[in-house]
Amino acid sequence: MTNHSAAGVVLLSLLMLTFRGPASAAEALVGATIIDGNGRAIDDGVVIVEGDRLQCVGSRGECPLERETTVTDLSGHYLTPGLIDAHVHFAQTGWLDGRPDGNPDPSVYPYEETIVALRADPGRWHRSYLCSGVTGVFDVGGAPWTVTGAQATDTERADRAHVRAAGPLITHAGLNSLFAPGKLADQPVFLPMESVEQLRADVAQLAEMGSAAVKVWYLDPEPAQREALDALMLAVGEAARVQGLPLIVHATELRSAKLALRAGASMLVHSVDDLPVDDEFIQLLLAGDAVYAPTLTVADGWRRALASVAFASPLAVDDPNRCVDEALLDRLQHPERLTPALRARPNYSPDRYLEAMKDAARMELQMAANLRAVRDAGGRIVLATDAGNPLTLHGPSVYRELEAMQAAGMTPIEIIHAATLESARAMGMDDRIGSLEQGKVADLLVLSADPRESASAFRALTHVMRAGSLRTQAALRVR
Ligand SMILES: [Zn+2]
Repeated sequence: MTNHSAAGVVLLSLLMLTFRGPASAAEALVGATIIDGNGRAIDDGVVIVEGDRLQCVGSRGECPLERETTVTDLSGHYLTPGLIDAHVHFAQTGWLDGRPDGNPDPSVYPYEETIVALRADPGRWHRSYLCSGVTGVFDVGGAPWTVTGAQATDTERADRAHVRAAGPLITHAGLNSLFAPGKLADQPVFLPMESVEQLRADVAQLAEMGSAAVKVWYLDPEPAQREALDALMLAVGEAARVQGLPLIVHATELRSAKLALRAGASMLVHSVDDLPVDDEFIQLLLAGDAVYAPTLTVADGWRRALASVAFASPLAVDDPNRCVDEALLDRLQHPERLTPALRARPNYSPDRYLEAMKDAARMELQMAANLRAVRDAGGRIVLATDAGNPLTLHGPSVYRELEAMQAAGMTPIEIIHAATLESARAMGMDDRIGSLEQGKVADLLVLSADPRESASAFRALTHVMRAGSLRTQAALRVR
């Protein structure tokens, strides 16, 4: 249709006014099966939205419609809270260009240019989140701008996901000069673990900056360094308590994960992947009411990204709802630009990438077994992708992670709870988001498949509501 009559245009405008009118104009979504994120399912349900809030969620009897309410019939569909990804990095792109420690050829993609472009467009990852059904994210580490920039502060709007951000990471890994070179020198990504005094000052500075948590990247130290660094890990926990900030820790070895929990960690941002979790680990996790973020798929993304460069062959991009923008897609589809530099490395061997694939299978089985152990013990589990890492794409990576959680043995109902209310709790926002309950922000998804049957149903996204604004998934497509 190309010819609109003038009257038609006027009528359309009036309809839009009714639809997007003042807060008093309520809107109702009726007829769908509602899965509220907090354990309740309602067939033929009603959600009444007023302004940006949920006014009523229940059966037709519980939520009677008033005459002026705008009604959208969603019979045959399923409503869930928006997905919340409790582990992302705004400062990373989803490709090797966002990781100076992983990019084989900085002359092809200079890191400074990547970061400058990213900061200049604070809406970029938000578009792919909403397009994928992700309405909240926890940025668990990056330069100060990831806390203070518009992408994290200007989010109370319908075209943004909710964001909490931790900011610079405390670590003994010492990569700051790589991640904060040249023009980026005033934006340190890493704060060194050197002394108790320094750590106290750094944690105080994080609090002042507005960080939502103190993030520690703790690689299990060599035995000779262990005693000193373990003491500093415990000191960070103490400093975080003093500042009233949650402590969140990357510690993927059983030993260091237990240390993190002893230090008071409220969240382990990755699975334990070296050994089976034991009773002591489970007791520490439960005693601290800590959250376990499995991130089952991120390591595979790294392996596949490097293999695609090594073999100069692009891999299929898992983006069923067209949420990846053209600029990123171009880089994903041209790994060969980085191939000569990778192959020129002195230790290069194609066999390495094949061996890595075999190791991956062992690690995946360990992570799956540990996730089941945490689940069986009643531990808190969240949806966490580590988006921004190579081939773990902001937004669409949630689908594969949800499916991996199911393949590991979680039920779809457990996964929905983890991916909504538990993730909101991990962000400290469960009073406002994470479930479909009266008074909460009206963030919800409409699916054409039943997410109680399979976590894959989140791929079948037909609409996204954020802050009371309902849009079709097609309208949210990035390309
Ligand atoms: Zn991460």
